[in-house]
Amino acid sequence: MKGVAAPPLRAAAPRGLCTDCGVSRMADHAACGRACQFIAPDYPALEAKVHGRGRDPARPDELHFGPFLRMARARLAEPLPGAQWTGIATRLAERLLETGAVDAVLTMAPAEDDRWRPVPVLVTRAEGMAAVRGMRMGYAPLLALLEPAAAAGHRRIAVIGIPCQVYALRAIEERLGFESITVVGTPCSDNTTTENFHGFLALLSDAPQTITYLEFRADYTVELRFQNGTKRLIPFLDLPISRLPRDFFPLTCRTCVDYTNVLADITVGYMGGQGEQWLIVRNERGERLLSLLEGEVVLATPGSAGKRAGPVKGFLANTLRAAGGLPLRRMPDWVRPIVSWLMPRIGPRGLEFARARVEMKAVETVVHLRREKPARMKSMIPAHVWSLVAPYGLAPDEREKRR
Ligand SMILES: Cc1cc2nc3c(=O)[nH]c(=O)nc-3n(C[C@H](O)[C@H](O)[C@H](O)COP(=O)(O)OP(=O)(O)OC[C@H]3O[C@@H](n4cnc5c(N)ncnc54)[C@H](O)[C@@H]3O)c2cc1C
Ligand code: SF4
Ligand code: SF4
Repeated sequence: MKGVAAPPLRAAAPRGLCTDCGVSRMADHAACGRACQFIAPDYPALEAKVHGRGRDPARPDELHFGPFLRMARARLAEPLPGAQWTGIATRLAERLLETGAVDAVLTMAPAEDDRWRPVPVLVTRAEGMAAVRGMRMGYAPLLALLEPAAAAGHRRIAVIGIPCQVYALRAIEERLGFESITVVGTPCSDNTTTENFHGFLALLSDAPQTITYLEFRADYTVELRFQNGTKRLIPFLDLPISRLPRDFFPLTCRTCVDYTNVLADITVGYMGGQGEQWLIVRNERGERLLSLLEGEVVLATPGSAGKRAGPVKGFLANTLRAAGGLPLRRMPDWVRPIVSWLMPRIGPRGLEFARARVEMKAVETVVHLRREKPARMKSMIPAHVWSLVAPYGLAPDEREKRR
């Protein structure tokens, strides 16, 4: 495909908690110590650097979603075929390339032999973005492209990345010497290796190789699409989660501390969108970026309904059981269809669903680190995560407190 390149990358240096964001493959691989979300992240400092301020306590949603100027429900008036949702992430990057605002976009293409495996690519033409639409499961060394991008003479770049990649990028961006870096972030949670993900697909279908699309939707169902054009919705409660091996989700993805990509210029997700996409415009650069889609994107005020406290408490109880090696509490079979019917109607919806998911992720971080890497807690858990879990009775002891 013209305008899409996958340059050869150095080997990764061995690391402990690591999602191979690419920093360990750079010339200065020791930069991991400063750059890594899993070592000693400093969100307040980076939020102030990127957005000009930290989270404002007077704007309560910033505790959950990070600093922002505005949020919106959104969709492209003409959805892009093959996109995960309507293709806002792709279209933003296309517009940046079309208008000459950037010379190259760093993002993930599907591997030639496996649509689910992400491969880091440099896209230098707008038409190349069509090849990278949609979601891959897994992580790959996106930031290892920074050096090849600079060597190719690109001065203004855009990066589409998940939170653990964007944190590291922000921590090292000054040293890279680019004229500008525009960041389109997506939320990310419950990621795993592509190999593990294939195991999950095999539990969902007798013909997993024919699944072309999977999404955890905000209406409490997983949507699957197949090669023959058919579609299937599976209620969350019917997912075979209890049949997954204990290490299905790596510790990194059970304990990372940024669900909504708080250091992006704009976050493009779906959690708060009630069936549409959800945009978090975080700073002036993000605002300028969104203005590139004028006339193409339909925006609305996000809704919010239901109450999150009950579901988050239930999640905490189940996470404690699972982390302790006990089986998850399963509902009797006859109750499940009733609850599956009720959840999209009375459960948390819109922004309340997004708040619930962010709190659940914070709960997981504390419970799993406490059990598996307690010594990491004082350096890895930012203050905002403790604030998110405080209503559920989780608080740091002396050894766990941030120093
Ligand atoms: C592993 C994962 C988990 C996610 N979990 C959530 C979630 O819980 N809640 C939520 O609101 N949103 C989540 N998202 C984001 C969501 O799936 C959509 O990507 C987002 O809403 C953008 O949709 P779109 O139609 O605009 O994307 P598209 O226009 O289809 O573009 C998607 C972009 O994402 C890039 N991409 C795809 N796979 C990966 C990957 N594995 N790593 C890095 N970049 C990738 C593509 O290269 C492409 O540039 C997740 C994304 C990933 C990759
Ligand atoms: S995730 Fe990135 S910064 Fe962290 S150890 Fe791995 S390569 Fe280094
Ligand atoms: S869940 Fe967290 S650690 Fe895992 S890939 Fe996503 S952002 Fe990175």
